[in-house]
Amino acid sequence: MNERRPRKHFGQHFLHDRNILNKIIAAIRPEADQHFVEIGPGRGAMTGPLLEGCATLHAVEIDRDLAAALPEHITSPKLTVHAVDALRFDFATLRPDAGRLRLAGNLPYNVSTPLLFHILGYDELFDDIHVMLQKEVAQRIVAGPGGRIYGRLSVAIAARCDVETLFHIRPGSFTPPPRVDSSFIRLRPSAAKRARIEDPRAFDLVVTSAFGQRRKKLGNALGNVLDAAQIESVGVDPGLRAEQLTVEQFIALGNLAGSIGTTAGLR
Ligand code: SAM
Repeated sequence: MNERRPRKHFGQHFLHDRNILNKIIAAIRPEADQHFVEIGPGRGAMTGPLLEGCATLHAVEIDRDLAAALPEHITSPKLTVHAVDALRFDFATLRPDAGRLRLAGNLPYNVSTPLLFHILGYDELFDDIHVMLQKEVAQRIVAGPGGRIYGRLSVAIAARCDVETLFHIRPGSFTPPPRVDSSFIRLRPSAAKRARIEDPRAFDLVVTSAFGQRRKKLGNALGNVLDAAQIESVGVDPGLRAEQLTVEQFIALGNLAGSIGTTAGLR
């Protein structure tokens, strides 16, 4: 298929390693009645094997040339290509004809974090999410409280999903090789976890504000949202910094902010 030079600004590193591809498909285990969304199919390394095992696949590819070439290369009535930016894609539009969805992708590294936040906005739509991303981002996702890499992404994902790091991939498995190692991870959005968050906007505001000024104590960092007495009222010490809080404590603060309406002006 289209072998023109990979476009750096689209984070194009194409997977060519058969062993890794087999491991990815074995981890995903597509089934004949299942519907998939693939982000960034590129030249179709994962698309073909996924299509062989599933009912339908919606591929979302920003590069118009690759998007146009994909159905020529992989002719299947099960494939629908959307030549759009996944960051702007409304995944909810796929729901009526597709039922429940699974998401997979070798994410473009330059936008993997914003893409994850965008996907999280549709977490109730997806049974699971299998993505390849920079190892460093995967480490941030699974990080727990107490360290420098624990942050907004760790909390946003841990509050909504069960997370597993499945395996790591060396740069040589891609053309061209990226400068960093990659990890393949599985996120399973959890309705039980989601139910603990009473007001997602308030929760996101608390987490974003706290980590936006992560060197400051919560009493200061959350100043516009909750005061020190309010923070203390849910058993959290306002003298702590964001990276010292558990996900449960962020949820308690978010629920409080939502219930007292301090975020009303931001809606
Ligand atoms: N899946 C292919 C593979 O494994 O060989 C390609 C993976 S490559 C790391 C990332 C792919 O995402 C590229 O095809 C790139 O054009 C596409 N891409 C980059 N930014 C995108 C965006 N915002 N929305 C959709 N696709 C994007």
